[in-house]
Amino acid sequence: MEQSRECGECDLCCKWLSHDVYGQLISPTNPCRFLKNGCSIYENRPPQCKRYSCMWLQGVLPEWMYPKDTGVIVSVKNWPYGQWLEVLGCDTEIPDEFMKELLKFKAPIKYTKDGEIFIIGPPEFEEYYKYYVSKNRNLLPHISD
Ligand code: SF4
Ligand code: SF4
Repeated sequence: MEQSRECGECDLCCKWLSHDVYGQLISPTNPCRFLKNGCSIYENRPPQCKRYSCMWLQGVLPEWMYPKDTGVIVSVKNWPYGQWLEVLGCDTEIPDEFMKELLKFKAPIKYTKDGEIFIIGPPEFEEYYKYYVSKNRNLLPHISD
């Protein structure tokens, strides 16, 4: 897909989305060691970093939903019936207006509030999400499907 936006000064997924960067498992308590005013190994960053585009970067969400400004990352993931959205508030509550905007996409949504997981979607998605959790040993929001 042609990228219509650039990350600019945002680096939230390098801190908050779990993925392996040359042996380092990224998590909120263990941000990427290559993060130094942006990615210091940009040309040689791992394939999973190259592949990942949050929903804002894909150009789908309105400009005001820029993760650096809102503190919220939306990842678009696949399931057998289409796509679903994993929403992560990075040390912040997800604003109501943000959720309202996401509901317009009519895709299942998983988000967390006060440490509790919530699902918006049909019973089939709830079943799928249980399967998704069972096959992912690492339950932190991460950058693959
Ligand atoms: S969260 Fe989105 S905008 Fe921010 S660095 Fe990651 S891909 Fe770029
Ligand atoms: S390697 Fe670069 S793009 Fe990947 S998580 Fe680290 S700083 Fe971010």
